[in-house]
Amino acid sequence: MTALIAANWKMNASLAANEALLGALAVGMAFRPACDVALCIPAPYMAQFAALVSRLPALTCVALGAQDVSSQPSGAFTGEVSAAMLKDFACRYAIVGHSERRLHHGETDALVAAKAQQALAQGITPIVCVGETLAERDAGRTTEVVKRQLAAVIQANGHCISEIVVAYEPVWAIGTGKTASPQDAQAVHAVLRAQLAAASANASRVKIIYGGSMNASNAAMLLAQPDIDGGLIGGASLKVADFLSIVSAACA
Ligand code: PEP
Repeated sequence: MTALIAANWKMNASLAANEALLGALAVGMAFRPACDVALCIPAPYMAQFAALVSRLPALTCVALGAQDVSSQPSGAFTGEVSAAMLKDFACRYAIVGHSERRLHHGETDALVAAKAQQALAQGITPIVCVGETLAERDAGRTTEVVKRQLAAVIQANGHCISEIVVAYEPVWAIGTGKTASPQDAQAVHAVLRAQLAAASANASRVKIIYGGSMNASNAAMLLAQPDIDGGLIGGASLKVADFLSIVSAACA
């Protein structure tokens, strides 16, 4: 399976910073990587991304992604961005259910499932984030939590579940510099793989990527695991050299 390396810039961007970062990325991407690369950027900068791609052809091999999408198709939902709006900017991926949204915006499993449904209806691949907190891990509840989170998305999207990407992101590893060991991450990925297989005959093509302090030094070991099909990269995606090292590790 072709690996997917997806950047999550979070709320870090400006016109000037993006121009510098994407310019440097274009130089590094001139080799056209053998894996899929996506940048999930803040929505206001999607037009800038499109303009830069036409100036920097090396960026055509980078897919555009969003960090969230509305659970509603349109209407009186102030501040929301619909999947159709993202589609207007040729957005190919949308992160849904990131732990920062579950935590700070009270997003429930059902809401995350509805967001995935909206993305899929527009032909956008939802990157469905699941992951346990440290307290849940310490209580031995990792499997139960990630399965519950994924089950909601499967229940609402069963017919097209093979079109999603799953990101296993242990909450305690996000932005902390702590990473799940390759063996621990692999064990959770295998659980998610089995859950998907039970839901759909086509589930073997679902990419299950790992996120949580993946960086240039630990990427290769994580990506070498049989059920780790790529990475969702936060902090390290803002450092071009580090991000390109992770891309190279995924292409190896
Ligand atoms: C993330 O926010 O999805 C993430 C994985 O962040 P970091 O790489 O900084 O841990």
